[in-house]
Amino acid sequence: MTTTAPPETDEPFETAADTARRQLDRAAAYIDVDPGTVERLKHPKSVHRVSVPIERENGETEVYRGYRAQHDSARGPFKGGLRYHPGVTAEECIGLSMWMTWKCAVMNIPFGGGKGGIVVDPKDLSESEIEQLTRRFAEELRNVIGPMRDIPAPDMGTGSREMAWFMDAYSMQEGETIPGVVTGKPPVVGGSYGREEAPGRSAAIITREVLGYYDRDITETTVAIQGFGSVGANAARLLDSYGANVVAVSDVDGGIYDPAGLDTEAVISHEEQPGMVSGDAASDTLSNAELLELDVDVVIPAAIGNVLTADNADDVRADIVIEGANGPTTTHGDEILNRRGIPVVPDILANAGGVTVSYFEWLQDINRRAWSIEVVNEELDDEMVSAWNDVREAFETHDGATWREAAYIVGLRRVGAAHSARGLWP
Ligand code: GLU
Repeated sequence: MTTTAPPETDEPFETAADTARRQLDRAAAYIDVDPGTVERLKHPKSVHRVSVPIERENGETEVYRGYRAQHDSARGPFKGGLRYHPGVTAEECIGLSMWMTWKCAVMNIPFGGGKGGIVVDPKDLSESEIEQLTRRFAEELRNVIGPMRDIPAPDMGTGSREMAWFMDAYSMQEGETIPGVVTGKPPVVGGSYGREEAPGRSAAIITREVLGYYDRDITETTVAIQGFGSVGANAARLLDSYGANVVAVSDVDGGIYDPAGLDTEAVISHEEQPGMVSGDAASDTLSNAELLELDVDVVIPAAIGNVLTADNADDVRADIVIEGANGPTTTHGDEILNRRGIPVVPDILANAGGVTVSYFEWLQDINRRAWSIEVVNEELDDEMVSAWNDVREAFETHDGATWREAAYIVGLRRVGAAHSARGLWP
């Protein structure tokens, strides 16, 4: 087994795949898992690279690059989002697909890990161009996805609208309606109620449990949240409803801060209308960098990756970090926060509500029977508390393990057991 060397510099050269491989090594050191399996898990099973041509509105043909990384399927079909972002790379998809493997295993749902995307800024395209792009992407991936094979979902730059087009394109070609090929669809075509709010909900539920663990009263807790999109806004509103004091939120252009607490229902989310958070005149404004360094009890980076780094981890003043986004903390950033004794509760647990409700959606699609929002939210709460208990137990029984390592221990143990049961063949 080769061990991945520690980073010489992390940001900006550390890819998500590098971070994910290092995290795997660290977790593997704690448990008795076959080194051959660990070696296999450092590599994706497949990475599909496709060209996605569309005819632009000016009549010109443009070709975009798309990827689908399929990391591991020992526990079930590959599962994970599709992102539309100019920064998408194969390495990023690989790293994110590895995180999906652990996320599904931590939640104990019967899926493996996948992730894909297109190198594109969707803001540069019209709605009908995005539709063409999505349908053609579905067609290019058609032979490698499917409800029992690989099930995409929304991620950065995509949402229920894209999932409906994706499902339609796939279904038209297959000759039958196959809602289970993607999750995160609108409920009218087999989507689940509560799917969109789910990652933010899980971040709030996990924050509630973590505060309980550290004997803190949630009603006396101040929270700053970077990002006020689907993860950040839903986490903020649920935490607010639990009695927490959400004092700062932000969007890409900056944030707002009110030490007396924000009215999270009144702040307009990025989803509802982009740019409205930083444009809110009622509160003080602050930059995204300043938000991460606020003197609050809990900070939740819930926007993009690699925001807590070697450059700012020493300046974080929060007592607890809850990762709402995927991969917000670099390896060096993580080491500094750990050294400073600041617990970092990882993405693969905190935002796992998204894929958990995706699993509920897939079950509803397969059974052709919809669940009510009450059932979805109740089941989600139960699943999150159960995963939290598993991770807490690993944290308590492995001396020196961080919360991230504890979550990895839970996930890797399950994936390792599936591999050893199935074996290496052919
Ligand atoms: N993109 C989401 C994530 O990173 C959801 C994936 C899914 O629902 O399959 O967890």
